[in-house]
Amino acid sequence: MPEIIEVEAYRRAISATEGRRIAQVHAPDEWFAKGDTTTDALRLELTGARIEEARRIGKLVILDTDGPRLGLRFGMTGKIVVDGAMPIDHLLYDSPRHEPAWDRFGLEFEGRGAMVLRDPRRLGGVQLDPDESRLGPDALSLTLGQLSQALAGSTVALKARLLDQRRVAGLGNLLVDEALWRARLSPVREARSLDPKETARLHRHIRRTLAVLGERGGSHTGDLHPGRERGGCCPRDGAPLRREQVGGRTTYWCPAHQS
Ligand SMILES: [Zn+2]
Repeated sequence: MPEIIEVEAYRRAISATEGRRIAQVHAPDEWFAKGDTTTDALRLELTGARIEEARRIGKLVILDTDGPRLGLRFGMTGKIVVDGAMPIDHLLYDSPRHEPAWDRFGLEFEGRGAMVLRDPRRLGGVQLDPDESRLGPDALSLTLGQLSQALAGSTVALKARLLDQRRVAGLGNLLVDEALWRARLSPVREARSLDPKETARLHRHIRRTLAVLGERGGSHTGDLHPGRERGGCCPRDGAPLRREQVGGRTTYWCPAHQS
């Protein structure tokens, strides 16, 4: 699944379209238009608009135009193709095949170039004027104060709180498991139970995990990752990893060193 690191790479690739005017909108799939947005509205409102800036909050990429804002979500398998090139050409759940039907949305620009959102499993989507106020602070620039605020007073499991996009935008399942494993914190603790030292440690490890995975080129190359299978062991101390559902997501953690 594209995590925040990949989505930031997508945003950078998309920024190449800044300043271009949209000549044609390819929107063949009504299901891919989210919220109140329809494929007719996408064609009507975006054709002729000029791309001003490609921004990102969490895993949402927003294209500001001189008309509406356009939100892009990539779901489990979404990728971006800009002028025929992909910033990341292999993802964990990716298929090496390509079928034209996987091109769920696209923009052709006046003069030159095109942008295509390719999504085999069709779990992403596009939306006009998405509600950005529903997203918490972005994980890549998260401050200690923002993290403290996100956890304060919450009786929800720590991992569930970190995955709640309204509290922190952009942390995904594998990334949170890796950061909590590195920070020696249990995912099932109440979010509010962290003392200031633990919160600072978590903040440090979220930042480090993002940096390390960024250097390694993706979200699925963490140190915990080899142990993420039934019967898997902790890569640090060899203890059997616990596997359970937390916040609705499959979670691996080490009861020997995470508390
Ligand atoms: Zn361990």
